[in-house]
Amino acid sequence: MSSAVRGRRLGAFALASVLVSTAPSARAFCRTTTEKSPPDYDAVGAGCWGRGVPLFWRNACLGYSMHRTASRKISYEDAANALSTAFTRWTGATCPTEGTGRSRASIDVRDLGPVECGNIEYKSGVANQNVIVFRDETWKYGQSVLGLTTVVYNPETGEIYNADMEINTLDMEPLAVRDPVAPDAYDFASVVTHEAGHFLGIAHSDVPGSTMYARYDQGQTSMRNLAPDDISAICTVYRPDGDRAVLNGKVTQAPQCDPTPRGGYSSECQEKRTGCGASTSPAKPTAGGLAAALALAAALVARRRVRAGAASSSSTRAR
Ligand SMILES: [Zn+2]
Repeated sequence: MSSAVRGRRLGAFALASVLVSTAPSARAFCRTTTEKSPPDYDAVGAGCWGRGVPLFWRNACLGYSMHRTASRKISYEDAANALSTAFTRWTGATCPTEGTGRSRASIDVRDLGPVECGNIEYKSGVANQNVIVFRDETWKYGQSVLGLTTVVYNPETGEIYNADMEINTLDMEPLAVRDPVAPDAYDFASVVTHEAGHFLGIAHSDVPGSTMYARYDQGQTSMRNLAPDDISAICTVYRPDGDRAVLNGKVTQAPQCDPTPRGGYSSECQEKRTGCGASTSPAKPTAGGLAAALALAAALVARRRVRAGAASSSSTRAR
């Protein structure tokens, strides 16, 4: 078993690193990279998008914050519990030890509590939030898109600086927060576990049944639990020995657990410093990597179940 896992891991990393897959039968996880794939790119069938540098968090720990209002459909407490469980699925994955004696993926994720700022943004030089927001009123990405995670990173190294998650609570109706999940319901736990994978830098997998599969069927609950392919992903990027797999080798994690967002933590949205009182010197020009950081989004798309007798899979928007 361990050799099979190992082979899949290595193959997957190669897929993430080169343009063309040489083994179309070797289905495996994919990593998000610094080069955005075309909007119609589908890992199912096409394999991993191979251009760019794969993304990773360098820190041993990272923090996220839910927007304080949560959703009309989910209380703050219920949402916070579901998010905590979702991230723990990833961070608690058991990896092959490979002789190190350690089997846990080397990334930890902490809930930093509610925040006022719900902006999907990253600002260099000021405090930030890795925020999770619920969209009850408007959703601009299309009705079939259930969640969308935006990651900001250094375009040269692939190091992630910030991630924000948006959940389409407007269109997920009915939304199931607790079991049992009705056949026509959207399982909140499944959706946020999938988005948590994007938060950690993992892209869509072409392995049916995996948490990172791009399509979700109503009533489905299997995405709550990681499949072997998802575990291979988290264990490859955040190796138990603390290193992160990158394009041409590995980088060592920042050893201390510091979940503070890059630039500091603030509940409020921050404006760029302009020298007002805080300083007599002008704001420093940012390093090239920060200034050039790009945003990349990955989404989970619903595949609505066609009910018996229905002519098509058309759906209605319920508010
Ligand atoms: Zn997705």
